[in-house]
Amino acid sequence: MTEHHDTFLEELRTCDCDPEQAELVGFHIAVRQIQLDTWHQLPPRPETIEPGQEFSNGVPLLPVDRLRIEPTLLGQAFDRIASLVAERRPQWAISTDIPYLALVGEWYRQGVLPDRTLSLIMQMALRPFLEREAQDILHVPGVDLNQWWRGWCPLCGGVPSFSALTPPGGERSLLCPRCLAQWPFSRVVCPFCGEDAASQLGYYPSADNAYRLYVCESCKGYIKAVDYRELARKISMPVLDILTADMDMAAVGQGYRERGGQIAYWAR
Ligand SMILES: [Zn+2]
Ligand SMILES: [Zn+2]
Repeated sequence: MTEHHDTFLEELRTCDCDPEQAELVGFHIAVRQIQLDTWHQLPPRPETIEPGQEFSNGVPLLPVDRLRIEPTLLGQAFDRIASLVAERRPQWAISTDIPYLALVGEWYRQGVLPDRTLSLIMQMALRPFLEREAQDILHVPGVDLNQWWRGWCPLCGGVPSFSALTPPGGERSLLCPRCLAQWPFSRVVCPFCGEDAASQLGYYPSADNAYRLYVCESCKGYIKAVDYRELARKISMPVLDILTADMDMAAVGQGYRERGGQIAYWAR
């Protein structure tokens, strides 16, 4: 993945977003450039992780003690992203002496840290490490994500933030906002709590039918979805996750809970 060929960055740069999204997109372009700088300096994983019986039982492949972190690189990414955040929203400036390394494990297992801003910076700074792990671990023979079928990420255990209905039949894939892994999952089950009663589940389609907001009354969770059968230009799920921030605002305004970036497996 070079900056030149990074689909994520290319799509952000060329999206025809609304003028009110321009500032948000600009922010994410700057974050992506920092993530790519980190990515380029990461060596490939020397050994693979074989999916065993635990994986069949729903245990994600990458426990926190096998997560590879280069402390200096993480520190650089963390500081640069924290500066960007503070530039964009001065009220979100965090203290410069945060012991971020000591917080990686807590963030990885819980999905959140008590300080919301710190959680988000951690997620953005760790993403190149986790994307690299996903590439090295998930894309090897023996890892069959069609057999996974869980509401949490097969690699890192993260909770999905976005989903896609794919042609021809509209099968659903979930997206992990931490490592960007994607995996298939039922359309009629809540990925967060496992609810499958139709009376508790529903969705709100967008006016053009290209997007849906799936909600669950049992856990008040929600997940956004794109219907690729209805979208004229195919844009990847991580970028659409950013471009549909207004759906998050609407969902939270209706009393649903933002779950993406938190954790299903480690916290249960
Ligand atoms: Zn993940
Ligand atoms: Zn639910």
